[in-house]
Amino acid sequence: MRIIFIGPPGAGKGTQAERIVAKYKLAHLSTGDMLRAARDAKTEVGLKAEKYMSGGQLVPDEILVDMIAERLKQEDCQTGYLLDGFPRTIAQAEALDSMLDAKQTPVDVVLELQVPEEELFKRLAGRGRADDKPEVIRERLVAYTNQTSPLLEYYNKKGKLKSIGGLGSIEDIFAEVVQVLDTFA
Ligand code: AMP
Repeated sequence: MRIIFIGPPGAGKGTQAERIVAKYKLAHLSTGDMLRAARDAKTEVGLKAEKYMSGGQLVPDEILVDMIAERLKQEDCQTGYLLDGFPRTIAQAEALDSMLDAKQTPVDVVLELQVPEEELFKRLAGRGRADDKPEVIRERLVAYTNQTSPLLEYYNKKGKLKSIGGLGSIEDIFAEVVQVLDTFA
């Protein structure tokens, strides 16, 4: 199963992603984790990305598209994966589509986790990551609204979008996720 997981920062995507990959035995492709690892290892990509990440802005598309293209070639991705945090722009989605079309391995479903903005701000402010300072949080939410949320319409038009409410207990939300994913597994 190939899944794209979309949701604003603070929606609880990471927590649900871990449960999804465990249950369905999928490779977990979190571009945020990959970029943080690259930053900490001070690779060329990591150093470039850091400038954007620390301000809450999106890292340029070329960097992400190359990174994902390499990752998707690896063995563990051949039986299925969860894309967590990618694509985040229409350009990334188009690049992904052409990569997957070429291999005739389309995405099965695009799962959206929906959480109202006031709730996101509350959650993010309590988290304590370096990019969770109030002004950076605001930037990340703006990036989501302006650059990422257009993907919902993009995938809805393709008949791939399934949306789930992200308020409630982790267990209840996961039960809804499973209900959707079981129809594709
Ligand atoms: P995340 O952990 O998914 O919230 O990602 C942390 C940061 O990494 C984001 O605020 C962006 O700066 C960067 N990032 C992660 N994924 C992407 C992506 N697909 N496109 C651009 N920037 C990204």
